Amino acid sequence: MANDIFCQIIEGKAPARMAYQDAEIVAFWDIHPRAPVHILIVPRKHILSVCELTEQDAPILGKMALAADKIAKQEGIFNSGFRLVMNSGPDSGMVVPHLHMHLLGGRKMGGLLA
Ligand code: AMP
Repeated sequence: MANDIFCQIIEGKAPARMAYQDAEIVAFWDIHPRAPVHILIVPRKHILSVCELTEQDAPILGKMALAADKIAKQEGIFNSGFRLVMNSGPDSGMVVPHLHMHLLGGRKMGGLLA
């Protein structure tokens, strides 16, 4: 395991408000929420970002999207809609070097970055 904050949360060494867990994925609430629902969907396996994704690891992206559907239903935003965001590489503003998907909802989104 690497030692980024998401690995620490996955290992139970750092606190988080959990939203969903299965054999491959952990999801928890973002500490600086940008929407009423802001949950991070994270593979247990340490993959740095989409830039480092291999053919072998590619199915995890589909599983993250399916987890997003489940969590959106659980949090009551499946029908109202939600946004999924993945940052990758220096220009994206990615700050945690562990593959993750932001699930944002519970408010009307404006333009792409609003
Ligand atoms: P990114 O810019 O895509 O790397 O986003 C990383 C996200 O992780 C940010 O929205 C942070 O607020 C969030 N974050 C960082 N540390 C924690 C933590 N310990 N628990 C929950 N969310 C965190």
